[in-house]
Amino acid sequence: MLYFHIPFCAQKCSYCNFHFSTSLQQMEPMVQGLISELEQRRDELENPHIETLYFGGGTPSLLSSKDLGRIVDAVEKQYVLDSHLEFTLEANPDDLSAGYLRELKEIGVNRLSVGTQSFFEKDLRLMNRAHSASQAEDSIKRAQDMGITNISLDLIYGSPGTELGEWRKNLEKAVALGVVHISSYAMTVEPRTALHHWVETGKVPAPEEKVQAQAFDYVHEYLSSQGFEHYEISNFALPGKRSRHNAAYWGSRPYLGIGPSAHSFDGGRKRSWNIANNALYLKHLHEPAVRMESEILSDSERYNERIMVGLRTLEGVDVRTLAPLLNESMEAHFKRESEKKLQQGLLVAKGHFLSVPVAHWFLSDGIASDLFYLET
Ligand code: SF4
Repeated sequence: MLYFHIPFCAQKCSYCNFHFSTSLQQMEPMVQGLISELEQRRDELENPHIETLYFGGGTPSLLSSKDLGRIVDAVEKQYVLDSHLEFTLEANPDDLSAGYLRELKEIGVNRLSVGTQSFFEKDLRLMNRAHSASQAEDSIKRAQDMGITNISLDLIYGSPGTELGEWRKNLEKAVALGVVHISSYAMTVEPRTALHHWVETGKVPAPEEKVQAQAFDYVHEYLSSQGFEHYEISNFALPGKRSRHNAAYWGSRPYLGIGPSAHSFDGGRKRSWNIANNALYLKHLHEPAVRMESEILSDSERYNERIMVGLRTLEGVDVRTLAPLLNESMEAHFKRESEKKLQQGLLVAKGHFLSVPVAHWFLSDGIASDLFYLET
C-alpha cells in the first residue's frame, strides 16, 4: 500500500485542521521532493507488489496530470503495480473538468473520492468549500460518463443549522447519482479553525450531538435500504466496492506514506511520520532523521489500536490477533471488560470476532476506550 500526501488546497475550509498550504508556488519542488522521498525509502516496503495507490491531502486534484504522471512513473520504476490496482485520487469537484478526468483515466486512476460534503449551497458557504453544489453534481456525472464509475462521496452531517430533512436530501441525491461508496462524517469543531472561532464567539451554534446521533441512525437505515453495506462507522459501500486501501489500514497491514505529515507502518511495531510543514519537509528532505519521527509500539499500544480500529468495523476485532499481545494482566482485563460489555449488549461475539452492534456504533469510541489497557 502506497500513500502520497499532497499538501495543498485552493482555500481553507472552515472546519479543517489537516496539514496543507494554500500557496501553490511550492508545487514543483514538492513533486520533486515526493519522488525523491519515494526513491530514498525504496526498501521500506518488504513486498514490492503494490495493490493500492492512494493520493490524499490536502487536495490531490490540484496536481496537474503531468505531475501526477511523473509521480506514478517513479512508483512504477521501483514497484510492481498489481493488475487489479486500486488507484484512488481524492478530488474536489471544481477540479474535475472533462479534460482532466480523461488524463486521470489515462494515468490509471480508477477510483475517485470526491469531497462533496453537501448538496446545499448554504452548507458549502458555511464550510467555505471552493465549489458549488451544482459543480459537485456535474463533476460526478462527468466522471461516470468518462468511465470512472468507482466513485466515493464524502458527506458531512450535523453542520450548524443543518436540518435532518436536508441530510436526507443529501443522501437521496448521492444515491440518485449512482455513486458506489459514501463516507459520512459528523461535523466536528476542531481547534484552530474558523468554525471553532465562530462557535466560541457565538456567530454560529455548536453542532448538536442529539441531531448528529439522529443523522447517524438515518444514514445507516437509509443507505442499508438502498443496498449499501455499512462496513465501517463512517463508510458505506455497495457490494464489492469497499475501499481496499482503507481496509488495509484497518487490518494493520504495512503501508508507506510519502509527503509532509504522511504516516507509515511496517505491519509490526514501527510507526513513522513526516514533519507536518511543507517548507521544513523540503529543507530536510535528505535528512530523514530530522524530517521524520517514529515510535515503536508496545504490546498494549498494539492491543489498544486493534480494539479501537476493529470495533469501528462491521466484522469487529479478530480476537485471535489480540492473543499474542496479551500478558496475564492484560488478558484478565480484556476478559473482564469484554464480558461486561457482552452482558450489557454493547458487544456481540460471532466466531472469533467481537463487534459493536450497529445500534450502538455511535458509542463505539467509548466502548473501545473501556477495553483499552493502560500501563501503570
Ligand atoms: S479541501 Fe479538504 S484538506 Fe483542504 S481545507 Fe478543505 S477539507 Fe481541508
